[in-house]
This record gives sequence, C-alpha cells and structure tokens, in this order.
Amino acid sequence: MRIKDLALKIMDKRVTPYLKFDTLIAKHRFFMCIFNERDVFNKQELGIHIIDGDVSKVAQIMRSFQIEALDNLIQKIEAVSSGSDVDLIKFLLYHEEHHWLHFLDSGLSPKEYCESLDVRDYDGVLVKLGQEIRNASPNEKSKLKEQFIMEFRSNAYEKAADAYALAKLEAGD
Ligand SMILES: [Zn+2]
Repeated sequence: MRIKDLALKIMDKRVTPYLKFDTLIAKHRFFMCIFNERDVFNKQELGIHIIDGDVSKVAQIMRSFQIEALDNLIQKIEAVSSGSDVDLIKFLLYHEEHHWLHFLDSGLSPKEYCESLDVRDYDGVLVKLGQEIRNASPNEKSKLKEQFIMEFRSNAYEKAADAYALAKLEAGD
C-alpha cells in the first residue's frame, strides 16, 4: 500500500486538500506541516508535506533509526494497536492531522498562527542542538540526535499531536 492512498483514505477531509506528497521537505523530513512560508524552510508551500512510498518500506526506515526516543514512541504505538507498519504510518499521519486541525480551528491566518505559537522549545533548544549536531564528531552525533528528538517530542504541541494520534489508533481508526 502507498502512503498517499492510506493518507487520502484515513485522514480528516478538512485536511486532505492541504496534503503535498514527495516535496523536497517531505524527502528530507518525511512528515511535516509547513504553516508559514517565511520561516526557516522558506520557499516551501503551506501544507502537510508527506513522503510517498510503500508503507512497509518507509516504516522499516523509521524503525531502523534505533533512537531511544523513537523506539519509546513505537512501544506506545504497539501498546494501543497491533504495532504493524500500517499502524506506525497511521500514527505519523494522524500526528500531522492534529497539527493541521489545530491550525484550522484557530481561525488565524498562517502568519498569525505562527505568531500565536509558543515556539520557545522549537526555537531555542532545537536550533542550538541542530547546530551542535552539524558540528559534532560522528560519535557525538548520535547522542545529540537522541537528545534532539527527546527535546522535540517533549514540546507541548508535539505531545498533544502524539496523544491525538495514539487515541485514534486506540479507537481503531
Ligand atoms: Zn509534530
């Protein structure tokens, strides 16, 4: 099964018009919402950028990262679902869906929405860690990457999106 087909089948009809598959950002980040064209990823279109491809192949890549924070997440997914490759990809799609619904429900313009977010965690810690990762030795790199993902996932918006996605899986969606 292709990720695109799965996404169009399961995601909220309010968000599907904003799905963009296999864009440059999707090829680098796999799953990512872009709310504002003026931020770090400038020239990227507003939308939910998603890597397309075979569900199992992409799920295997995600599993192969062997990063503790990601493995913890996979354990949480397994606790509420069969933990199959499809469930893992569904989780990632629902996670982005939550971000986008939060944006749509805010009634704000993209610019206003970005300004309304408390992005201290994203901006401060993550930018700093991102720079450290780029300058680190290969040995330090994996440790810093681990820290990066831990920090990222402890952000309030990420936690809310994770909780939403887990609840959808638990409900059998
Ligand atoms: Zn997120």
